[in-house]
Amino acid sequence: MSDPQQSSDTVFGAIVRGEIPAEIVYEDDDCIAFRDLNPQAPVHVLVIPRIAVSGLQEADQADPALLGHLMQAAQTVARQEGLDASGWRVVVNVGEAAGQTVPHLHLHVLGGRALTWPPG
Ligand code: 5GP
Repeated sequence: MSDPQQSSDTVFGAIVRGEIPAEIVYEDDDCIAFRDLNPQAPVHVLVIPRIAVSGLQEADQADPALLGHLMQAAQTVARQEGLDASGWRVVVNVGEAAGQTVPHLHLHVLGGRALTWPPG
């Protein structure tokens, strides 16, 4: 499992460390994916790195391989959730005004219904 030193001190860090429960749908050495507590679509999964990265506002300080890995994990989750045919969306909120509430990088994987554009 994860190294406790490698997860940030947020609710998501606590999920990485196994301190609070989450419905984990995918995990590997670098990331975990779990269902959002307040789903905005029939499928709403969060993909997060195990290590502390506050968000894409820190992308220039993050490992590019890790960022790419998160995108591939999102695809794995979407496929596993049966979204290949119907389509899906990845959302990353960056900063408070964009709706980011948890300062631990997370990709929202959304699908299972028609998704309108532009997002609000
Ligand atoms: P943000 O608004 O930062 O882009 O996304 C944070 C997401 O985390 C929200 O969609 C919210 O519902 C979800 N969330 C917050 N706390 C928890 C939690 O303890 N467990 C789970 N599974 N999701 C959470």
